[in-house]
This record gives sequence, structure tokens and C-alpha cells, in this order.
Amino acid sequence: MTVMPILSIIIPAYHEQEGIEEALRHIRACAEPLCTVEYIIVDDGSTDQTWDVIESLAATQDRVRGVRLSRNFGKEAAISAGLNAAHGDVVVTIDADLQHPPSLLPEMFSCWQAGAKVVNTVKRTRESEGRIKAWMTQRYFGLFQRLAGIDVGNASDYKMLDREVVECLKQLPERERFYRGLVGWVGFEQKTLMFDVAPRIAGSGKWSATKLIGLALDSIVSFSTVPMHLMTILGTGFAALAIALGARTTWLWLSGSAVPGFATVILLLIVIGSVLMIGLGIIGVYIAKIYEEVKQRPGFIVQQSTPLNSLNYDSDRDQMAPQKRARRSGPELVQEASC
Ligand code: UDP
Ligand code: MG
Repeated sequence: MTVMPILSIIIPAYHEQEGIEEALRHIRACAEPLCTVEYIIVDDGSTDQTWDVIESLAATQDRVRGVRLSRNFGKEAAISAGLNAAHGDVVVTIDADLQHPPSLLPEMFSCWQAGAKVVNTVKRTRESEGRIKAWMTQRYFGLFQRLAGIDVGNASDYKMLDREVVECLKQLPERERFYRGLVGWVGFEQKTLMFDVAPRIAGSGKWSATKLIGLALDSIVSFSTVPMHLMTILGTGFAALAIALGARTTWLWLSGSAVPGFATVILLLIVIGSVLMIGLGIIGVYIAKIYEEVKQRPGFIVQQSTPLNSLNYDSDRDQMAPQKRARRSGPELVQEASC
């Protein structure tokens, strides 16, 4: 008898009170035909009614669980919390705003069944993000690939991971995580699918420019030490320049010409000063990162989880019980949504 795999769908949610229920309905419509599915909605410290909505979904719908973080730790942490809570043989991470099309789930699932350990999805276009954000994102991805040697391309956080990959990710000791980069880093057989970014179902994007720049900086520092080496290269360049200038000054002095170079000295001071400041800044960012990791604080704190009740889980297998599921699911619980 073949055992039906369990699929865990992780949905990070921050201030998603308006859209989360409908998003879940759409995700369900596409995921239910595939296999047994559990839904883990992680509330990333929302201050609106998101947690209340998640609690009522967990109480009324089959195989829905809520995990509530004690404050806003960021999407990367919310995904990690979801990975820790997932029981599935295969796991999907998907946004709560339906910008990641659930209709891609069957194809992703087929790729996993065909042997892919990681199914990535790549945004075909970034038009919905606005030209400036799309342009900056492209530059950032290019820089990340050059510095870290990992191609995250136009990759999104919409991914399907085999249990083996999830266990590898969970074992990585670092606290500050860049999910896309880490999934690329762990390797395994990876497959990539394309999708078009849909408009948000409700509410607005939660990434401020500062948060995005912070994530970009963090991810590069997490995966590459090239910026630090750049400082050594720059330093060497300036040392070569200093030798050349020193030789020229000595030659002028020996030949008896006056040195009018006041402007040159000032310019050099400014250039060297700013390069030193930038260098110290780069080293400071790395030291801050080391400091964060050395403190060994957890990457997130789970304040509350909805109980694993007997309606949703088979206590002795710690898994979903299909016979109970059949009793619970029905038109009053899952409204119609097309995939
Ligand atoms: N999100 C989160 N914590 C945050 C910011 C966002 O869990 O601090 C969630 C958000 O609820 C959504 C997903 O991450 O499910 C993507 O967020 P958003 O739509 O704001 O980002 P974008 O689509 O612009 O990448
Ligand atoms: Mg979005």
C-alpha cells in the first residue's frame, strides 16, 4: 500500500487580516486535490486582527494551524518558524497575498514527485513592482550572484522543498537567515518554474525601503566576504598611488622645482579619508553580524500556537488523520474557489 505524502503549506502573514481567509480558500482549492495537506499560517507579530482571523480559521477549518510570533521578526524568521512547525514530507512556502499563484502548486508537486528536491519559482516579470524597485532588485540580484556565487536570479520565496532539504535548513546554526540564498546554498536537485506576479489580494506591501535595503545588506554579508577583501584591494591600490606620488615628489625636490601641490594633498586626504571610512563601515557591518550570531539569541520567539486538536491530527502518528479529515471538510468549511 502506498502511503499518501503530506504537504505542509507555510504562509507568513503580517497585517493580512483582510486577505488571509480568501488567500487560504484559493490555496486550498489548488492544494487539496494533490494529497493530504496541512496549512501553517505564521503571524509575524501583526498588530491588527490577523491573529484573531488565524485563530478562527484554525478553529473552524480542517488542518489549519496558527503560529504567532511575539513581535515582528521579519518574513525570513516567519518562514523559519513555519519550517520548524511543519510535519509534511514536502513543504511549500507561499505569500499570504496571492501574489504567488496557487495554480502553480500542481506543477510544483509533479516536479517534486519526479524527483526534484527543491522546486524554485521565478518571477517572469516584475512590472507590478514599479520600475525603480524592479531595477534595483535586478542590480541587487546581479551583485549577490557576483559576490556570493549563488544565482538567486529573479527567484521568489515561493518554493517547494523536500523534507530532506527542510531538515538541512533547520540544522544550519545561523540565526539571521536569507531563505532564498540558503535554499540555493544547500544544493540538491533543483528545478525552476516561471510565474507572473499577480496583484495583491488586499492591503499593501509590508516592505519599506529601509527594510529592503537592510535585507539586501544582510544577505550579502551573510553569504560573501568579498566586500571585506575589496578593502584590502583598495588599500593596495592606494599604497601603489602613494609610492608613485612619493617618487614624483622626491624627483621634483631633487630637481629643485617647488611643489605647488596643496590642492593635490587636500584631494588625496579627502579620498583616502572617505575610503578609510567606507572600509571601517564594511568591517563594522561584519562585526555587527558576528555580534548578533555570538549572542545566540533565537531568530524568533513563538508566543502562541493553535492547539494540535484531535480534529486535525492523529495523536499517535502526529500526523493528519484522513478519516477525521473526511468528516470535517465540507462545503460549510471550504467555500468554492477555483484553481
Ligand atoms: N511578511 C511577513 N513579515 C514581514 C513582512 C511581510 O511575514 O515583516 C509577509 C507578508 O504578510 C506576505 C509576504 O511576507 O505574506 C510578502 O510580503 P509583501 O507582500 O509585503 O512583500 P512583496 O510581495 O512586496 O515581496
Ligand atoms: Mg506581496
